[in-house]
Amino acid sequence: MAKTVEPGDRFAIGITFGNSNSSIAHTIDDKAEVIANEDGDRQIPTILSYVDGDEYSGNQAKAFLVRNPTNTVAYFRDYLGQDFKSIDPTHCHASAHPHNTNGTVSFKLKDQPDADEPSTLSVSEVSTRYLRKLVNSASDYLGEKVTSAVITVPTNFSEKQREALIKAANDADLEVLQLVADPIASVLAYDARQESKVEDKMVVVADFGGTRSDVSVVASRGGMHTILATAHDYEFAGTHLDQVLMDHFAKEFIKKYKTDPRENAKSLAKLKAEAEATKRALSLGSNASFSVESLADGCDFASSINRLRYEMIGRKVFEGFSRLVDGVIKKAGLDVLDIDEVILSGGTSHTPKIASNFRNIFPETTTILAPSTTPTAINPSELQARGAALQASLVQEYDAEDIEQSTHPAVTTVQHISNAIGVISTSEDGEDTFVPIIAPETAVPTRRTIHINAAKDGGDVLVRIAEGGTHIKVTQPEPKPKEEKETDSDDSDDSDFDSDEDDEEETREKVWKIGSTLAEAAVRGVKKGGKVEITINVMADLGVTIQMREVGGKGGVRGTLAK
Ligand code: ATP
Repeated sequence: MAKTVEPGDRFAIGITFGNSNSSIAHTIDDKAEVIANEDGDRQIPTILSYVDGDEYSGNQAKAFLVRNPTNTVAYFRDYLGQDFKSIDPTHCHASAHPHNTNGTVSFKLKDQPDADEPSTLSVSEVSTRYLRKLVNSASDYLGEKVTSAVITVPTNFSEKQREALIKAANDADLEVLQLVADPIASVLAYDARQESKVEDKMVVVADFGGTRSDVSVVASRGGMHTILATAHDYEFAGTHLDQVLMDHFAKEFIKKYKTDPRENAKSLAKLKAEAEATKRALSLGSNASFSVESLADGCDFASSINRLRYEMIGRKVFEGFSRLVDGVIKKAGLDVLDIDEVILSGGTSHTPKIASNFRNIFPETTTILAPSTTPTAINPSELQARGAALQASLVQEYDAEDIEQSTHPAVTTVQHISNAIGVISTSEDGEDTFVPIIAPETAVPTRRTIHINAAKDGGDVLVRIAEGGTHIKVTQPEPKPKEEKETDSDDSDDSDFDSDEDDEEETREKVWKIGSTLAEAAVRGVKKGGKVEITINVMADLGVTIQMREVGGKGGVRGTLAK
């Protein structure tokens, strides 16, 4: 039985528990705030370290990766609820290694003073200890004992991983109100802003962390969110950018001192720590220094790099991020033109190059929500914790059972229609166009109403209701006039140059395609200047009813469509 707390006794926060970093957040007057721990950090490294039996966490523990790596445990979140044989231990090569204990994952750490032998701690125990630290930091900051939390999880967390996380939290004396999908938490954080309107939109949430990148396409319809497609990648993430910088500076070091700092564990750890700091500095400035005392063989090393060079040497990783986004949009059966917003989330999303690449991939109509493209963007490192805190404040008043049973549309993947439903309007020259009433991928049940004008002099209004889909219309540029081409061919050198210059890009636009007709109906004798109201109701079982009536008039027509 999972731990539960009576609603009246609860004090709830939002938690993001990542492989690289974690954050804690709380809401005050409906505003979410990310809380700093005792060291003043809001992005708290998910690391524990033991020195002479003392436990360190966060940035203090991270510093011990250089001097005390075997008693420092990092990058363990994804191992929760997994069998030893299915984990990828790569990221733990420079910290405590995962061990196989009867098929489960554990770590051997000297966590007791004066102990000769290390203790074997399960990944669940390590997570519990770390979560306890987070909760204590939050309780200290807020001056009240935190009892409960909403925690964010990746969309591909299995049921076993979710259960293991809940157990690890419960063992830290923390009630888990709900687990919210990472991308939904980011969307909730943006939706909570005062200036945000509840509107239909298609959102890509690109979450670039330290060890993994996760991208989701989310259909946001009337404040309900449906995840349409997801992609997860471990080849292109923040640590790969660290690696690019490590290799760059290692080569410089080798040139100067004829020794490779990557071949010695301590030097490698120093190289990695400084490469990460340099990478972060390059998100803010166009130049960053790199300096390590006694990097290898007692040699100090100082250098610098500018952003342009960094973007060049990191090109492969940046391209990987773009490909991932492109792939997931295709997986959802959509085109970049369908996307209204791209939310950049996760620490790596501070990198300006990622946002500028997306600016080039997406049309101008797509808003790219990243610090370097939108000054009002929320800090990508804080999005998920804020979303979790907002969700916690929403559900904390309910009994645990009600929260569990609630199919709160913001957090569950619900049934949705795939095509749009709309009316076909016929222009004077007889051309039909589709006007959507309910957007595709809208979660059901749903109900939408529109008003259409009757003809100027009134009379019968005939309406065809149909399904609609979108397709991308590609218009090739007009071919060049003939004589221009002839001039070009006179001089082959020039022609190459000219064709590049004059090559106009094809234009791509999203257009509606009329699908099957669902119903035809008429409202008779509408008054001069009158309007007809059409209401479409899609039930949870995808049954559709349509109602039409004259605005202000009596009667009307109503019909139910076969499913
Ligand atoms: P994961 O679970 O994928 O390991 P996470 O969700 O735990 O990641 P995040 O804090 O989202 O962790 O991302 C951590 C990554 O973000 C690290 O690689 C870190 O170096 C990078 N990062 C943090 N801040 C910046 C910045 N300002 N510029 C560039 N990269 C940054």
